[in-house]
Amino acid sequence: MRTYEVLQERIEEQPSTWLVTGAAGFIGSNLLERLLRLNQRVIGLDNLATGSRANLLEVKRLVGEQKWANFRFLEGDIRSLRDCHEACHSVRYVLHQAALGSVPQSIDDPISYHATNVTGFLNMQVAARDAGVSRFVYASSSATYGDDPGMPKVEPTVGRPLSPYALTKYADEMYADLFARCYGRDSIGLRYFNVFGPRQDPNGAYAAVIPQWVASMIRGEPVHINGDGQTARDFCYIDNVVQANLLAATADDEAAINQVYNIALGEKTTLSQLFEMIRGLLEPRYPRLRDSRPAHRDFRSGDVQLSQADISKATNLLGYRPDRRLKEGLAKAVEWYAGTLTAQPAAELSVVRPATASKA
Ligand code: NAD
Repeated sequence: MRTYEVLQERIEEQPSTWLVTGAAGFIGSNLLERLLRLNQRVIGLDNLATGSRANLLEVKRLVGEQKWANFRFLEGDIRSLRDCHEACHSVRYVLHQAALGSVPQSIDDPISYHATNVTGFLNMQVAARDAGVSRFVYASSSATYGDDPGMPKVEPTVGRPLSPYALTKYADEMYADLFARCYGRDSIGLRYFNVFGPRQDPNGAYAAVIPQWVASMIRGEPVHINGDGQTARDFCYIDNVVQANLLAATADDEAAINQVYNIALGEKTTLSQLFEMIRGLLEPRYPRLRDSRPAHRDFRSGDVQLSQADISKATNLLGYRPDRRLKEGLAKAVEWYAGTLTAQPAAELSVVRPATASKA
């Protein structure tokens, strides 16, 4: 049996308490779903800045009432140390996903990005330390590679950040490294490349490329490519990212701890290829897409031209195997958007508001 399957069995046999920050967001809600399916107790901390109750309600529907009873949602803010302390109480593993995540938005608003992604991260590190959390796994980003021209990207070689967002994620890695040396804390950073899948928000000016394009094609709106279409990314389906988080949380090899890892598929796909793949998947449902073409416009500042990961470090030290390939993942994502963009939201969610929830 493969490492990840064995690990899931082991986790299921020994329920623990996990804190997922950003639980109402795309990646956080997928982590929440997997953990609840594995009969874990989960606390979610989220201020709903970019996440939604709809994501949580979908997880509730998918896992069923019985498993949902193991979840407690704290509507709070990582910019408040008190909220972080409350969330970390009695927690064994932290999966820290909460952040503001858009490169162009960070160029427009660097102060908010610093407050959430750096101060909020530091609050979470302090709260996890004070609560004696066993492992702190956190979302870093491929953006940390900045202007490094090397390809594929290898963890020790980073360039200068190209956006406030990139700098915040690099600062987080330095804080995590410092907490290991100053306070003996165990953490693992995961440099996600372009993650996609169900519950990734397709709306707004800062939406990621896959949900934005799928939604545009479904709605009959134009699809824009920034640049000539040769910009390439390492697109990674969400299930692979969930796998990486569980492996990182439970890794017990000393050499694997207090490290950062590329988490990606390890392949590159150009935006032109991506357009063709998505169109091909949607065309049977929407025959009008057969002759559709993307509209090209200028490159966005802060974006890198080519991004592909070397994933051998995560493979060797964590046992990471990204077994969901791009086409399979795209098919699942497209299926979800096609079903969801026309469906009606419903139902209620029970929320605990920390007595001290900040409105910073
Ligand atoms: P998302 O926006 O869907 O999720 C982020 C969640 O954090 C949201 O639910 C949001 O409400 C919450 N949040 C934001 N500020 C908060 C605050 N001050 N207090 C509490 N909660 C707050 O984004 P995502 O794609 O799920 O990203 C999750 C993490 O992964 C982020 O750290 C992001 O930087 C990182 N990441 C994502 C990708 C990707 O391709 N999606 C790539 C690299 C890194």
